[in-house]
Amino acid sequence: MIPYGRQDITEADIQAVVDVLRSDFLTQGPAVPAFEQAVTDYCGAQYSVAVNSATSALHIACLALGVGPGDWVWTSPITFVASANCALYCGAQVDFVDIDPRTHNLSVERLTRKLAYAEKTAQLPRVVIPVHLGGQPCDMAGIHALGERYGFQIIEDASHAIGGRYKGERIGNCRYSDITVFSFHPVKIITTAEGGMALTNDAQLAKRLRLLRSHGITRDAADMTHAPDGPWYHQQIDLGFNYRMTDLQAALGLSQMQRLDEFVTKRHGIARRYDELLSGLPLVTPWQHPDSYSGLHLYVIRLKLAEIRKSHCSVFETLRAAGVGVNLHYIPVYRQPYYERMDFKVGHCPEAERYYAEAISLPMYPGMTDGQQDRVVSALRAALVQ
Ligand SMILES: *Cc1c(COP(=O)(O)O)cnc(C)c1O
Repeated sequence: MIPYGRQDITEADIQAVVDVLRSDFLTQGPAVPAFEQAVTDYCGAQYSVAVNSATSALHIACLALGVGPGDWVWTSPITFVASANCALYCGAQVDFVDIDPRTHNLSVERLTRKLAYAEKTAQLPRVVIPVHLGGQPCDMAGIHALGERYGFQIIEDASHAIGGRYKGERIGNCRYSDITVFSFHPVKIITTAEGGMALTNDAQLAKRLRLLRSHGITRDAADMTHAPDGPWYHQQIDLGFNYRMTDLQAALGLSQMQRLDEFVTKRHGIARRYDELLSGLPLVTPWQHPDSYSGLHLYVIRLKLAEIRKSHCSVFETLRAAGVGVNLHYIPVYRQPYYERMDFKVGHCPEAERYYAEAISLPMYPGMTDGQQDRVVSALRAALVQ
């Protein structure tokens, strides 16, 4: 089976992890701060906090911004469930803003309308979480301007998007958001096995993220309620978690950072080749906004179902049967049974539902060969025309 995504690991990556295994610290040694520094330097942000997953990063990002019971958090329905679950962890309520039919990202036009209505009903969101689907950045300038007007804060879920750019600047610089989150799961752009990171330009937010990452415990006398009892002393001043990244993971991440640009360039080469090979078939290839450079985590096509005699599901099954590991990113979050129990109904976000009925993620990863890609394309061609 040709997978839809997979990691790219070199001997240098392996050696970096082995070096940590032979060192004094497996966790909380020098590799975590070195990895954090490499990512902040690359992205042009001030601070970064490495954690054990993007899910954890989203959770403590919401907490750091004060999300709690009575608050609303809005995100895109076309995302991994973690982008919405993070708000529920904090006792807040979630709602979804329909997508733009071309980028499949949260639509700023829909957001504008929904905010105007929410203002009247006094249900404005405290936080909006735009998701850069497939690595293509959202209209962050537009979302930021609405944040200024309506007073919400912004967490960018950039799990797909490290290595991409928006208006010429690297994603993760937090110019248009309070916090940006990356995922380092093996299918994403770079990997630490499991892992994530939260970036910010706000020193207070960075401090809160660090505290929440590790039990709410501080060793900084300035933050304690009284002078330390002695050199052993620490205080728990908040309720945090063990969301720490290990040095083994960080060493892998640091080594992977050296090839980040190469990975994204390779993804762009594969995408250009797909664009050419798929032209003329009854499908829509990904649309790229001219003001951005995508990290290209995903290559999502949409079937023109009116022009083919097969169903979406049967095209999918035919491809899987031919050894092509296609996938679907994503089922609209509110169509999950857990969310349906919150009373979300079919039709809540019509554009997202249309997308879900037509989308297929084709295999895409830096190590993909032309031969593998040709197999994907011929299997797809066969699935569509037979
Ligand atoms: C993968 C992903 C996450 C969660 O990442 P983990 O590191 O696996 O916790 C969150 N949001 C989006 C959009 C993702 O794709």
